[in-house]
Amino acid sequence: MAKEKNIKNEQMEKIVAFCKRKGFVFPACEIYGGFANAYSYGPYGVELKNNIKQLWWKKFVDGREDMVGLDGPILLNSKLWEASGHLGGFNDAMIDCKECKMRYRADNLISEVLGKDLEGKLDEMTKTIQTEIKCPNCGKQNWTEARFFNMMFKTEMNSVEGPVYLRPETAGAIFVDFKNVIDSCRVKVPFGIGQIGKAFRNEIVARNFIFRVREFEQMEIEYFISPEAEWEAMFNNWLEAQEEFAKSLGAKAEDLKRYEHPKEKLSHYSRKTVDIEYNFPFGFAELFGLAHRGDFDLSQHQKFSGSDLTYFDSTTNKRYLPHVLEPTFGVDRAVLVALSAAYTEEDLGEGDIRVVMKFPPKLAPTKVAIFPLLKNKPELVAKAREIFADLKSEFKCEFDDNGNVGKRYRRQDEVGTPFCVTVDFDTLEKGEVTVRDRDTMKQDKVKVEDLKDWLKNKIS
Ligand code: ATP
Repeated sequence: MAKEKNIKNEQMEKIVAFCKRKGFVFPACEIYGGFANAYSYGPYGVELKNNIKQLWWKKFVDGREDMVGLDGPILLNSKLWEASGHLGGFNDAMIDCKECKMRYRADNLISEVLGKDLEGKLDEMTKTIQTEIKCPNCGKQNWTEARFFNMMFKTEMNSVEGPVYLRPETAGAIFVDFKNVIDSCRVKVPFGIGQIGKAFRNEIVARNFIFRVREFEQMEIEYFISPEAEWEAMFNNWLEAQEEFAKSLGAKAEDLKRYEHPKEKLSHYSRKTVDIEYNFPFGFAELFGLAHRGDFDLSQHQKFSGSDLTYFDSTTNKRYLPHVLEPTFGVDRAVLVALSAAYTEEDLGEGDIRVVMKFPPKLAPTKVAIFPLLKNKPELVAKAREIFADLKSEFKCEFDDNGNVGKRYRRQDEVGTPFCVTVDFDTLEKGEVTVRDRDTMKQDKVKVEDLKDWLKNKIS
C-alpha cells in the first residue's frame, strides 16, 4: 500500500494557495490563528463538494434498483463501538518523541524509514524505533514506548452514563438500522444501503491538506448478499463502479491503481480488501476502498444487542445473516481528486499563463456566467439580466459586468465555469448570444430561445 508522505510539493502548494485565493477551501478559524489542520469549504468549494455528493447519490442510490439511502446520527450508543471493535482492539500503535513531542504512527514510521512491516507487534515496534530510527522532525533518538491509541473523539451526553463517541465511520449507523430497513422497505437480498455523512478520527498526523483531516465526510455502502452468493463477480462490479466514479471526478485511468491487501494482513473476517489509489500530487494513496466483511458486523451487533438480525430469504426459504460488501468513498479525497485533476496552467505565450480548472461540467461549481458586453448600455444590461434570471432557475449561474470581457473569461476559467454567455448588440438585433467554451476558448452563436437546451445538452 502506498503510504502518503508529507512531501513539500510545488503542485500541492499551488493547489492549496489557489483554493484559498479563489474561495474553494480555507484553513479553518484563521482569524484565531487556525485550528489543527481543519478546513472550511468556501463558496466554490461547497458547490463542488455538493455536486460530487449528488453525483454519487444519483449513481449509487437513486440510479439503482437494489439500493436505498439512510441518514443516521453521528452520536450513537457506545455499545455499537464495542461490537464493531473500535473500543477494543482496532487501535493504532503510536509513539512519541520525548524531545520535540511529535507523535507518529509506529507502523507507518517503520515502513517509511526502514521499509519494514511490523504492524500490530507492539514490542518489536518499540525496540525497532528506539534503536534504529531518529525522529524525522528533530533528528533526536529519544522515544517513549509504542502504545495503542484510540482514534475516537470522546464526549458526554447528560442523559447517558459513560462517554459517547463521535462516529469514526458512517458504516455503523447502517448496520444498526439494517433490521428497520428490511422491516419497512421492500428490499430483497442482494441489496445495499448508502449513506453520506461526517466521520471523526483523532488522526495523529493530519496532513496533505484535505486528504487526511480529523473531521471528514464519507459516502459508504453496505451491500448485503447471501452467504452462498457468487461474490467475486459482485466484488469486481463494485470495484469497476468505484473506478468509474473516480473517472467521473476527472481522474485519468493512469492515475488510478488497485492495491489488494495481502491475505495474511486481512482482518480475520475479511475475504478480500482492495484500495483504489489515486496519484495525488504527493504520490499514490488510498482514495476509496472495497472490502468483503463476511457477516462480521451483523453477527457482532446481533451478539452485543441481543436482537435477531437474520434475514428470511423468500426465494430459497432460508434464514441467514447476510454477508456484506463494503464500498467506501471519502468525500474530501474525492474533492482533492477533482481539484488536482482539474488544475491546469496553460502557457498562451508572451508570459501569459491561463489558470483554468477543467472540471467535468457536471461538477463545476458555477455552470454558466452571463455578461452584458458593456456595463454602461442599459439595454444590454437589462437583456443580460433577463437571460440570467431565466438560466438560474436551471443552472448555478453568475452575473458579471465588471472589467472587460477577456478579464471576465479569465475569472470564470479560474473557478472552472464551463460556459460564458455574452449579451451583445447581436442579441438585441438578431436574438443571438455568444457562448464561449472554457476548454477550447471557442465561441458559438446560439439563439436565445435555444440557449437553455443547448447548455443542458452540453452540461449533462
Ligand atoms: P487510511 O489508510 O488512509 O487511513 P482507512 O483505510 O483508514 O484510510 P477507511 O476506514 O477505509 O480508511 O475509510 C474509508 C474512506 O474514508 C477512505 O478510503 C478515505 O477516502 C476516507 N478517509 C479515511 N480517513 C480519512 C481522513 N482522516 N481524512 C479524510 N478522509 C478519510
